[in-house]
Amino acid sequence: MSNASSPNTPALPKVGFVSLGCPKALVDSEQILTQLRAEGYDTAKSYDGADLVIVNTCGFIDAAVQESLDAIGEALNENGKVIVTGCLGAKKDADGDDIIQKIHPKVLEVTGPHAVGEVMQAVHKHLPKPHEPFIDLVPPQGVKLTPKHFAYLKISEGCNHRCSFCIIPSMRGDLVSRPIADVMLEAENLFKAGVKELLVISQDTSAYGVDVKFRTGFWNGKPVKTHMTQLVGALGELAKQYGAWVRLHYVYPYPHVDQIIPMMAEGLVLPYLDVPLQHAHPDVLKRMKRPASGEKNIERIQAWRAMCPDLTIRSTFIAGFPGETEAEFEYLLDFLKEAEIDRLGCFAYSPVEGATANSIDNPVPEEVREERRARVMQLQEEISKKRLQAKVGKTLRVLIDDVDRNGGVGRTYSDAPEIDGVVYVKPPFEPHRKLAVGQFVDVRITAADAHDLWGAAE
Ligand code: SF4
Repeated sequence: MSNASSPNTPALPKVGFVSLGCPKALVDSEQILTQLRAEGYDTAKSYDGADLVIVNTCGFIDAAVQESLDAIGEALNENGKVIVTGCLGAKKDADGDDIIQKIHPKVLEVTGPHAVGEVMQAVHKHLPKPHEPFIDLVPPQGVKLTPKHFAYLKISEGCNHRCSFCIIPSMRGDLVSRPIADVMLEAENLFKAGVKELLVISQDTSAYGVDVKFRTGFWNGKPVKTHMTQLVGALGELAKQYGAWVRLHYVYPYPHVDQIIPMMAEGLVLPYLDVPLQHAHPDVLKRMKRPASGEKNIERIQAWRAMCPDLTIRSTFIAGFPGETEAEFEYLLDFLKEAEIDRLGCFAYSPVEGATANSIDNPVPEEVREERRARVMQLQEEISKKRLQAKVGKTLRVLIDDVDRNGGVGRTYSDAPEIDGVVYVKPPFEPHRKLAVGQFVDVRITAADAHDLWGAAE
């Protein structure tokens, strides 16, 4: 069997794999094998050719339990270094003891089913693989562009809308939603790997599942629809188990978004709603060909805040869209004064090549677009200052992103990484209690400006 090593490179560590059980266990086996290969481990076809053996077990009926126990015994006799995963790994006997540990105490590690991350941790511990920069396709920690404590979870690709300023659908095509079980498994793996904040992204999170007619999938043996509300519920429950945050981005204000707000009020997912509204005037929105009209947005926002008073709303707007009159722009300013959006980004319209908006009559001159953008940001500065000032004196949970000698920098539920504000945190008085990246701390807020907060860890 080839191990992809040249005479100049050391042989790759080899893992033997025994896969028992149902199709769900088979998928777990495939995922573990995929991860092993991605990290550069080789697989062995026999016990004596393996440096370590993984047995994926079944614990469903007595015969399957016996078959699994026999397979573990055989692997221990023939090889000696054995990691066990799968359903039997999670099973206890009548005395409440782990069945596998009791019968086969020499097994190195035992995990339950769907435990790719835990199995890989056990493999790293008992069969560390030296990093080979010339042959490894994936670094040992995996390819991640975010720090270890937060991660983006993409739930779909493409978009069914045709906003006139946007060329994403022509580049990425129509909406394709990922199966809900895949999304949930990825979320679970990320939480297991230490992610403390999961940021759900897509082009249009509210449309999740529309392309597959909200097909029913399965997660943890229970049916779950490929639908935004069910996904958010399942992600929130999962995050609760790991003490992690879930943050929703790109939520279009479709009617079913109202069902998400109570989940935010309950604390299942962060009370943070990123709704890209782009404008408020109905005629501008029509020219933009936006999904969900602007007419009821003020009422919606007020109703959401009544349901969830802590809700932070983030949105983006375009100033100087082709055809925007001064009156339409002032309508937007009035909307912003009333809506008091917590976190706001505003862009001067920029004609993207290929966007149909470029041919709309009466384009707004560039200096007017810029001037309108500045007026929005000036207004927003006042709103933001007022809303952040209201947090002074409160104690808020902060996720620490960075630490230095003076303390740390983190974010509250109101701040998404990179795009929102931060909290500058003084460390606790006791010298042994240092702040750490990825740690949650309760911070008493002492000061605020238009963007950021300052406070002391409690
Ligand atoms: S801006 Fe419009 S067309 Fe572009 S991705 Fe968003 S919803 Fe889809």
